[in-house]
Amino acid sequence: MKVSSARFIKSTQKPADFPRDQLQEIAFIGRSNVGKSSLLNALANLGKLARISRSPGRTQTINFYSINDNLYFVDLPGYGYAKVPKQIQATWRNMVEGYLQDRPQLKLALLLVDCRIPPTQDDILMKEWLDHYQIENAVILTKSDKLSRSQLIQSVKRAETTLGTEGLIPFSTVTRLGKKETLNKIGTVVS
Ligand code: GDP
Repeated sequence: MKVSSARFIKSTQKPADFPRDQLQEIAFIGRSNVGKSSLLNALANLGKLARISRSPGRTQTINFYSINDNLYFVDLPGYGYAKVPKQIQATWRNMVEGYLQDRPQLKLALLLVDCRIPPTQDDILMKEWLDHYQIENAVILTKSDKLSRSQLIQSVKRAETTLGTEGLIPFSTVTRLGKKETLNKIGTVVS
C-alpha cells in the first residue's frame, strides 16, 4: 500500500463522535512512549500532525486520520502510565474497549511493543483483548535501531513467545526498517 495523502480528521472521546462514513479503519495501540506518534508520522508522512511525546495524564483521545481519502488510521490512547489516577485508567478502558467492541469497519489493529522492553502485563492483556474481540492484529516492535542485530532477533523471539504470536514486524523510524512490511500488512486487509 502507498500513502498518497494523509490528514487529521478529529480527536474525540465519545463513540457518538466517531466517523460514520463506514470507511475501513486501522488502529494503532501501545504503551505510552512506545513510539506510536513517530510510527504514524513515518507511515503516513503526517509531519508533526501526530504529536510526539504527550505528557502523562493529559486528556486522552482517539484520533482519526484520513488516509488516501479511503481509510482511517485510528490512534488509540496509550496505556501503562504507572502514575495516572484510577479514574483516568477507567476512562481509558471505557474509551478503548468501547471502540474495539463495536467497530465492524476496524480491519486491523497494530499493537506496538518497544523492542528493548519485555512485553508488559498491559501488552499481554491488550493482545488478549484483540484476540477476544476477534480483531485481526499484528505486533510491531518499535525502536529496533536501538538493538544490535542479534539482540533484535532475541527480542523478536521473546515477544513472540510472551504474546503467543508470530510474524512480528521490527520497526524503526530512524532506519525505516519495517515501514514497507507494515504498509504491506495494511494493504492485505483493506479492500
Ligand atoms: P508515543 O508516546 O507512543 O506516541 O511515542 P513517541 O512517538 O512520542 O516516541 C517516544 C520517544 O521515542 C521519542 O523520543 C521518539 O523520538 C523516540 N522514538 C520513537 N520511535 C523511535 C525509533 O524508531 N528509534 C529511535 N531511536 N527512537 C524512537
